[in-house]
Amino acid sequence: MPYRVRENLFIGNISDAAEILQNGSTEITHILSVLSSVSISFFSEWRSNLVIPAKEIKKVYAGGGGGGGDGCSGSVEEDSIADGGSKSSLSPDKILYSLEYAGKDLKLVRMAVPIRDMESEDLLDYLDVCFDFIDRNRKEGSVLVHCFAGVSRSAAIITAYLMRTEHLSQEDALESLKQSYEFVCPNDGFIEQLKMFEEMGFKVDHASPIYKRFRLKVLGESYNRGEKIESSKFGADPGLATEVFSEGEVASNLGNNRTPAYRCKKCRRVVALQENVVDHIPGEGETSFEWRKRKSGNPYNKSEESECSSIFVEPLQWMTAVKEGAMEGKLSCAHCEARLGFFNWSGIQCSCGSWITPAFQIHKSRVDISSV
Ligand SMILES: [Zn+2]
Ligand SMILES: [Zn+2]
Repeated sequence: MPYRVRENLFIGNISDAAEILQNGSTEITHILSVLSSVSISFFSEWRSNLVIPAKEIKKVYAGGGGGGGDGCSGSVEEDSIADGGSKSSLSPDKILYSLEYAGKDLKLVRMAVPIRDMESEDLLDYLDVCFDFIDRNRKEGSVLVHCFAGVSRSAAIITAYLMRTEHLSQEDALESLKQSYEFVCPNDGFIEQLKMFEEMGFKVDHASPIYKRFRLKVLGESYNRGEKIESSKFGADPGLATEVFSEGEVASNLGNNRTPAYRCKKCRRVVALQENVVDHIPGEGETSFEWRKRKSGNPYNKSEESECSSIFVEPLQWMTAVKEGAMEGKLSCAHCEARLGFFNWSGIQCSCGSWITPAFQIHKSRVDISSV
């Protein structure tokens, strides 16, 4: 039996969902399936005698493309995922969700999102579509959120939902969910992402340094798994934008004429914008740099000491050595080939002591900061 979390909101496992899909329910009208596969055949793989009728409404890809189905717009608003494209951590060809009529007499509406129960799995980028589905359908019916065991994935999504709708901290939201079903236990990677979600103010803010660090970490993990990093994952080359447009046009395109830009000291080409910078907290993980402190011996010098001599950016289109798939190498100016810094997928230590992984490092001494 699914457990009631809030009015018209339930949590359950795959058996609960299968039972409702097979026999219908007097209460549940909508099902959010969080499984490794969006396919309804997942249910028959799990229990071979299970036949669940389904009719696709649509499939939506992370890059924004919808496909298939009968053209019905369903119950998830397109607009809400419009900005989920290039700046999200998901590959554009990955399914974001699929929507279908399912179950007896095709009376239920089921949305499926493909999330595996792994610590490295990207949860954040699915939250918005899940929230929309839950919010919209709780108003007219009841929503069951389920995964395989009803312990980690579904719990993570409902925890995030409670955080957002009730402005609860990650701990309080999870504690509150445990009142409904005591065995919920999102995996550690999900908990970490839920904390980021809290820090971002209960939204998935692609412009936030927290999200940028997360996105870079996801990229680093897929590099380490041996996957090729598609160039769509690289940030646009800010140097190209400034070559094609006049300075005024670039400024107005950016909606802000004081956007700080980093220019190659030698040839003045723009190599990064402030928005490409992935901030880190100076001195984090400084234990391996302890000798530095002892050497100077002046406790009042601390702040000066931890000044970062580099900036770290997201991988950008002009970084050809990175595009070619190297593990590490030099970063040279795309125009004059002056050396700007280094990159290393397994990390570089900043002068402040922090380890940045993966790292695309530009030495401050090689660039000037100006507005675009
Ligand atoms: Zn630093
Ligand atoms: Zn240059």
